[in-house]
Amino acid sequence: MTLRGFKSFASATTMNFEPGITCIVGPNGSGKSNVVDALAWVMGEQGAKSLRGGKMEDVIFAGTSGRAPLGRAEVVLTIDNTDGALPIEYAEVTISRTMFRNGGSDYQINGQNCRLLDVQELLSDSGIGREMHVIVGQGQLDSILRATPEGRRGFVEEAAGVLKHRKRKEKAIRK
Ligand code: ATP
Ligand code: MG
Repeated sequence: MTLRGFKSFASATTMNFEPGITCIVGPNGSGKSNVVDALAWVMGEQGAKSLRGGKMEDVIFAGTSGRAPLGRAEVVLTIDNTDGALPIEYAEVTISRTMFRNGGSDYQINGQNCRLLDVQELLSDSGIGREMHVIVGQGQLDSILRATPEGRRGFVEEAAGVLKHRKRKEKAIRK
């Protein structure tokens, strides 16, 4: 994955993820969580809050005391597809997302412009697409461990997909 102008990564930064578990270590505020945000973002994440920002353009490098803000953010993710996990006839698949300060995102698959939908469809059968990867955010484990029994039931209901039905039922009963 290569980040350019994404959050704290002003200069192009490339990292390789080998098979198995990858650990990213570093001091507080050094950008570890930003790497996870970049992964979610390039795979099409649409929620600013999921990216720990207030608005979508918060992913663009905002400048520091020694460096001017940038006008665009880019993340390029190259996936080894020799096992054919992605339904596309390339041994290597590159997905990239670019965003400018004045608005929308541009997506590319293997250098060709495409829609968000194309990225989502490409990933959807692979087990890494939307709703198929899970990011356990900082503090989330803590909140599960500290939750009241009712709160804990809420997590289980959400995971099982019944929470929305219970909310609908409660709403219907109130009416
Ligand atoms: P911790 O160990 O505390 O969890 P971390 O390594 O996960 O830290 P991150 O949350 O990834 O740290 O990075 C936070 C840093 O990224 C902060 O210094 C913040 O100012 C910087 N940052 C976030 N968004 C931007 C942006 N748009 N432009 C410049 N810097 C940014
Ligand atoms: Mg962090």
